[in-house]
Amino acid sequence: MIDKSNLFKVPNPNSNDAKIKKVVYEIDKSFFEKFKKDSFNKEYLCICSGGTTSGCAKDNYITVDLRKNYNQIKFDKKTGIVNIGGGILMDNLLKKLDGFNRTFPIGLSTLPGIGYILTGGISPLSRRYGLAIDSVISVKGFFGNGEYFSLNEEKIIEEKELKIMEGIKGAAPFFTIITDIGLKTFKSYPIKIFEGFIDKNELEELTKKSEEFPNNMSIQWIFSDQIYIYIVAEIKTEKDKILAEKYAVDFNKYSSLKIRNYKSFNDVRFFPKELNLFELNSKNHSEVISLLGYDLKNNVKDFIATLSEINFLKPNKSCYVASQQLGCDSNKKNKSSSLFIHRECSWKPWIYASWEKDNFEDKNIALTWMNQSWVKLKRFFPYIHMAQLHNHLDSHKEEMNLAFGNKLKDLKLLKKFYDPTNILPPL
Ligand SMILES: Cc1cc2nc3c(=O)[nH]c(=O)nc-3n(C[C@H](O)[C@H](O)[C@H](O)COP(=O)(O)OP(=O)(O)OC[C@H]3O[C@@H](n4cnc5c(N)ncnc54)[C@H](O)[C@@H]3O)c2cc1C
Repeated sequence: MIDKSNLFKVPNPNSNDAKIKKVVYEIDKSFFEKFKKDSFNKEYLCICSGGTTSGCAKDNYITVDLRKNYNQIKFDKKTGIVNIGGGILMDNLLKKLDGFNRTFPIGLSTLPGIGYILTGGISPLSRRYGLAIDSVISVKGFFGNGEYFSLNEEKIIEEKELKIMEGIKGAAPFFTIITDIGLKTFKSYPIKIFEGFIDKNELEELTKKSEEFPNNMSIQWIFSDQIYIYIVAEIKTEKDKILAEKYAVDFNKYSSLKIRNYKSFNDVRFFPKELNLFELNSKNHSEVISLLGYDLKNNVKDFIATLSEINFLKPNKSCYVASQQLGCDSNKKNKSSSLFIHRECSWKPWIYASWEKDNFEDKNIALTWMNQSWVKLKRFFPYIHMAQLHNHLDSHKEEMNLAFGNKLKDLKLLKKFYDPTNILPPL
């Protein structure tokens, strides 16, 4: 084991504290050959882009940290396409695009790296611009077998390449290391946000209303001891402007909702620390599970009651449930094929479980709460968004089934061909 104290710092506290074997910054074919020989097929590589998950570093495992040498960003003004390295954070991406009055549908935080894009990428703007994977134009990188590849969506003709591209969109971490990705970008337009603390009855009302929102609007919230919501509206067209004004009149009755106007989506920051929405404890470790489900329709009341029960039973003030809304454009079936198979879903809630690090009893209690909450929410949200790899948790197999369904067999085939010795995280 090496002292990695100055070498490897990541936002995810579990990964940051991991006693990793080694950090690798550069990959080529010979690296894979050497790793295969040295590891006797007993280990796999952890990959780090933004370092926001518990899967990017583990005790006694090697991490490939892409942030140092795969941090290129190149924007082509003529095509509006940006090419970014495998270690680019969403923050860097937006900063670059802002200079060109362009944006990209990132999620609720600027912290994640390209793991955000590869695992689907659900944004407050997804109802208009689709998922992040829908904007992928090209990819370059290495398969787990060490072979280099470069694919461009428009130049794919072979069935084999189609299948690879399909797998990369939603399940890349299981069989590739992506070193460069080409993305469509979008012109920036003003954003209007209605945000504030609300009560359960108001959440019920607003959830019902949100299922009728037009494609430029979405709702996101956190449900802890207090409830905080963001209703995001992009004002691109005259129709958007008129509708936002109409909604503003309606939202006026929720006295705590404030209106904030932004020049661009690039300037918005969600759930800042200052709001004290949950207890941020630097001595804690955590896990997150992300669910997917359809419109709640007549089940909104039941759902809010379930959330209240989950919140009441949470083991400490660092645990919570939150949600974001997708739908409209992200539901469209004409999108190019991907392994984000639950296209028709419109809600992505996530359960965040946290405990005092090194306290195994606390960990057990928090993870039990997370799993029991998941069971309670399954009837509303039966699927999984594979945004966090949980091959170190008991829930992994079930999560894989609920994320990939019938397409799991296709992913198994991709793994068999392109990562036959399991150098990358296991299925
Ligand atoms: C504060 C916060 C807010 C979030 N909000 C949203 C949101 O709004 N919408 C949403 O969809 N998700 C959201 N997420 C989830 C997040 O997008 C995923 O967990 C994502 O996988 C994190 O990517 P990363 O690069 O930061 O993490 P990492 O821990 O570096 O990587 C995550 C996994 O992806 C794999 N990986 C990373 N880079 C590569 C690569 N170049 N090639 C191959 N595999 C790679 C790794 O194997 C790793 O296991 C949020 C996460 C956080 C922490």
